[in-house]
Amino acid sequence: MNFSVSSVPSHPLAPYGWDEGWDAEFAPYAEQGLLPGRVVRVDRGQCDVVTPFGTVRADTEFVVPRDPMKVVCTGDWGAVDPEGGDPRYVRTLLPRRTAFVRSTSSKRSEGQILAANVDYAVVAVSLAVELDLGRIERFLALAWESGAQPVVVLSKADLVPDAVTLGHLVQDVETTSPGVPVLPVSATTGEGLDVLEAVLAGGTSVLLGQSGAGKSTLANALLGEDVMEVQAARDVDGKGRHTTTTRNLLALPGGGVLIDTPGLRGVGLWDAETGVGQVFSEIESLAADCRFHDCAHVAEPGCAVLAAVDSGALPERRLDSYRKLLRENQRIVAKTDARLRAEIRRDWKRKGAEGRAAMEAKRGRWH
Ligand code: GDP
Ligand code: ZN
Repeated sequence: MNFSVSSVPSHPLAPYGWDEGWDAEFAPYAEQGLLPGRVVRVDRGQCDVVTPFGTVRADTEFVVPRDPMKVVCTGDWGAVDPEGGDPRYVRTLLPRRTAFVRSTSSKRSEGQILAANVDYAVVAVSLAVELDLGRIERFLALAWESGAQPVVVLSKADLVPDAVTLGHLVQDVETTSPGVPVLPVSATTGEGLDVLEAVLAGGTSVLLGQSGAGKSTLANALLGEDVMEVQAARDVDGKGRHTTTTRNLLALPGGGVLIDTPGLRGVGLWDAETGVGQVFSEIESLAADCRFHDCAHVAEPGCAVLAAVDSGALPERRLDSYRKLLRENQRIVAKTDARLRAEIRRDWKRKGAEGRAAMEAKRGRWH
């Protein structure tokens, strides 16, 4: 794996993820004298934006449309007023590369944006309990759907008695996660933290995973105490506020950015059909050889997927899990406004592809 630091290392926002792509997107607003910034927290129609001159408070009145999917959220890049008016305003948002959404329980079943412009979705899986591959697949579907690159962290590796067992566990998860790096890590011994830090240095990350998986412990190990203090000291508008407790986006000392918003951790499946397909990419390739174009891989003649199960090439558990996630997804989709879904795809699927292409060009591929 080959990771390089930001391609615009001298920019004051480089620690917050500024790169050549954002530089180009922002150029027209720079000409208008606006300041670039990244949203580190949103509350009550206002947000905290980190700019080249520190963190400022800004109103989002001009950039909040009715559509809840377009509401300003942590991780967004935007342009804010250069002077400290009362209040300042966010004048525009730059198009998102990726986004995490979750369904709300409202009657209209609208989505809610949880985080924007995430490059790595880190799925924490505890090695203290038996592996639940179905649960990992569920989190991976969400991760892929956002447009981010999923990474599985097998946490609490110190609790695995020996290296051979650990190797087997890693292998089991790798088989379940085509195209996803699987990293064993222990926050207790520090094992594997350096590898994880090197990965996360390449962009913006979020931590997903079940409660108790070790996410908070991991976040603390990655962040370290001193970094939070440094950031608090830099806050120009902060007036002694404890930014450590209010910010949902933090620069990591080893490079890269961590977003940790309250709602993200318990995120549910939300129209993640593309994501499900990416988790089970080997099933989707097998399906290309099924006799019927619309084969459901249940009892159809000439089904290449069932043939693979019969031959032992595809574990039956994997096919069951695939079906279960697709069904779950369809139930959610049925409740969701079609127009809204079409908009989401148009808006950031394209941007996600562009952003990923830029990222890959910047630092080389995973494998
Ligand atoms: P979260 O709910 O995902 O944020 O999980 P926490 O970070 O709160 O961790 C859950 C429990 O696992 C806590 O009791 C931690 O002390 C423990 N834990 C976290 N990381 C490790 C580790 O690397 N090794 C061991 N042995 N325990 C850990
Ligand atoms: Zn089939």
